[in-house]
Amino acid sequence: MGIEIKPENTIFTSTEMDIQDLYKCVHCGLCLSSCPTYTVLGKETDSPRGRIAYMKAIYEEKTDLTPRIVSHLDSCLQCRACESVCPSGVPFGRLMEHTKSYIVNKKKYSFFRSVVNKFLYKVVFPKQFILSLLSIGIKVYKALKLNKIRILMPSFMIPLDKMITDTPKEVFRADGSIFYSNPITKKRSVALLSGCVMPIVQSDTMRATVRVLNKNGCDVFVPESQKCCGALNIHGGDLEGAKSLAKANIDAFIDLDIEAIIVVSGGCGAIMKEYFDLFKNDEEYLEKAIRFSNKVKDISEFL
Ligand code: SF4
Ligand code: SF4
Repeated sequence: MGIEIKPENTIFTSTEMDIQDLYKCVHCGLCLSSCPTYTVLGKETDSPRGRIAYMKAIYEEKTDLTPRIVSHLDSCLQCRACESVCPSGVPFGRLMEHTKSYIVNKKKYSFFRSVVNKFLYKVVFPKQFILSLLSIGIKVYKALKLNKIRILMPSFMIPLDKMITDTPKEVFRADGSIFYSNPITKKRSVALLSGCVMPIVQSDTMRATVRVLNKNGCDVFVPESQKCCGALNIHGGDLEGAKSLAKANIDAFIDLDIEAIIVVSGGCGAIMKEYFDLFKNDEEYLEKAIRFSNKVKDISEFL
């Protein structure tokens, strides 16, 4: 490859990216047809292979992080569709998460975007209290039928409106409840991640999950001290915020006598199965994060 890899000296050091992963791509192009941004935009620069080329060029100091490069990296949806078809096992999701963190650290986003991101990642998603206020706001929005007053609705709200009006009436609270299964059936014990937005916009799904688990002989515990999984922080480049949420979740679940930590939101599960990546240099939490990640199961994987 013609370059000496010295992770301790790299521009990605602060994000703890595993630099070897950058060089796993063999440029075969098998991922291109699976990438939604490539199929829509049709440009190599908006493909997984193109984005990896940019990351390498930045690492090898062949280019600066220009606004044009940031826009191509930023258009990645972080859906990881490219990962599942890659014959070289390039962990693209992790590479992109570290790259986003690098973009944030280099202050390459506009002031407005940085402020909005900080507000969402530091204030809204980690705080159940703020999310409860959000659910009250949704109830008021629906009760007053504010969506009928078109003049009040900015254009960005139009796609959100259907999601808001479809929101179930009651939120699903993570309040430390234990939902017991039929005492006659064979017992299993699991804990459930409720998450940040799921208890509001998918509360019916959460309740149905508990019923299905109970029917299958599982007692279901919903720890009160759990937090948002941190996926949104990670996707936005806020790795420190994600670490603090991950620590709270590890502390909430790790000592429970349970068979599995059940998730019903695939994005949360994918991140929680990789919590260990956040604690590579944290002696206190690495071992706990590995044990935690091993217990995380999507409900369809568990049943
Ligand atoms: S499939 Fe994997 S190895 Fe092939 S171009 Fe895409 S990322 Fe690189
Ligand atoms: S993670 Fe990004 S590069 Fe990979 S398939 Fe999704 S949009 Fe494309």
